Amino acid sequence: MTQINDYWKNYIDGEWVDGGAGRIDVFNPGTGEKLAEQAIADAGDIDTAVRAAKRMHLSGALADLRPVERGRMVQGMGRYLLDNIDEIATVLTLEQGKPLWESRIEIEGAARYFEYYGNQAETVEGRSIPLGASYFDFTTYEPYGVTAHVIPWNYPVEMAARSMSAAIATGNACVIKTPELTPLSCMWLAKAAEAVGLPRGTVNILCGYGHEAGAALTGHPDVRQIVFTGSVQTGISIATAAAQNVVPCVLELGGKSAAIVHHDADLDAFENDVRWGIYFNAGQVCSAMSRVIAHESIHDELVSRIETIAKSLSVGPGLDRTEFGNNMGPMVSETQRDRAAQMIVDAQKQGATVVTGGRKMNIPGAFLEPTLITNVTPEMTIANEEVFGPVLSVLKFQSDEDAIEIANGTPYGLAAGIFTSNIDRATTAARKLRAGQVFVNEWFAGGVETPFGGYGLSGYGREKGREALWNYVQTKNIAIKLKG
Ligand code: NAD
Repeated sequence: MTQINDYWKNYIDGEWVDGGAGRIDVFNPGTGEKLAEQAIADAGDIDTAVRAAKRMHLSGALADLRPVERGRMVQGMGRYLLDNIDEIATVLTLEQGKPLWESRIEIEGAARYFEYYGNQAETVEGRSIPLGASYFDFTTYEPYGVTAHVIPWNYPVEMAARSMSAAIATGNACVIKTPELTPLSCMWLAKAAEAVGLPRGTVNILCGYGHEAGAALTGHPDVRQIVFTGSVQTGISIATAAAQNVVPCVLELGGKSAAIVHHDADLDAFENDVRWGIYFNAGQVCSAMSRVIAHESIHDELVSRIETIAKSLSVGPGLDRTEFGNNMGPMVSETQRDRAAQMIVDAQKQGATVVTGGRKMNIPGAFLEPTLITNVTPEMTIANEEVFGPVLSVLKFQSDEDAIEIANGTPYGLAAGIFTSNIDRATTAARKLRAGQVFVNEWFAGGVETPFGGYGLSGYGREKGREALWNYVQTKNIAIKLKG
């Protein structure tokens, strides 16, 4: 059995510290057994961290650097993660459940954010605005100061890396609230900050309960910018706290993203999209392909192909699944698994058909069978609410207009996909789909370089790409009256 530390501390102002609210148990969802204990921060710890971050910011130790120097440190953090990928990926799999090869992809993804935003650090330039001969006017972009990052459990390291890399590259300090279910692997982000020599107080990483530490952080008067990924309900609480302090936030709140599959789509290629779109990370992906809207002429064939994929997945503990392939791990916790299983039962009561899967597995751990549901109609709960599990709902359409209407028919709007060999149809759909990101003929097309975020209840603001840099800076205009 892999041995890891039995107690993990929080990281504040360059020190590893106990939590004011004690400890919690962290479980291995692949076995159901206790894995380790994690220090739990209280509001006092959050205050200490925010004050350390503010002190560092006001000292100018980060913000006053030439940007290339900040950029090099940010890039170095990514290299540190890659240098330690074996150890980090193992802990991530133990606490989160995903197969080991998926954990490696997550760490590589996290490293890629540090590479990308490290490279961008020296590209944030102001401009000069002509006001005639009597003035010289220019804009600069200044960091907010203390930024707060509230992290979800589905991709803890990658989500923390996504926002902190851009925040640090632009000269901000970070206070990061890690998720209660998966706090351990994020602690390497603190080690990375130390390894590259970031000033003390730049990176603070604390686990704590959402209602206590999370609320204390997002409501702290010295926090000047907030990034949150998670549920709509928590997003609303955080936006409310942000509004009280007149602080901007970026909210990334999940979705019910649909792939429209036309009669002229390449169904062989689409099998791969299904495998990644809904069964990657056991479906616990905010932009998961949780609905397929299939043209009636290919519906039955498509369902039978998806059934084959779902049945081909070998499901079990992530640590035993080291290589990319037809395998899937547990969900993050039994609570999340039971919630998903109940949603499947409720869908059946509303008239949907479970073609394959649908049951909890009769082994220890938080396992749910890869599930495919058909006879789903747009008004059913399963067609509208996020399951956040390996559960795909298939709906049918007749005309292009129907397909768009069904795809746009939920309150969410994170991602959408269109699968067709007709470029006109694809372009028209891309314009009409109400989503922050549209994938044409490949689910998850795009990369770190492409902006990502939602319409509607999926949130606001964009992460990734150059667009996200502007989340972490505020514009200052300087107008100078000249004498002559
Ligand atoms: P959540 O929104 O409750 O938790 C996400 C993070 O917010 C955690 O770090 C949590 O501690 C923190 N938090 C909770 N309450 C807070 C508060 N009042 N103030 C500040 N921070 C707070 O999500 P969850 O309970 O972990 O999962 C529930 C559902 O959320 C899932 O089933 C899924 O639908 C959705 N979810 C979506 C994503 C995504 O990537 N969009 C990620 C995780 C969960």
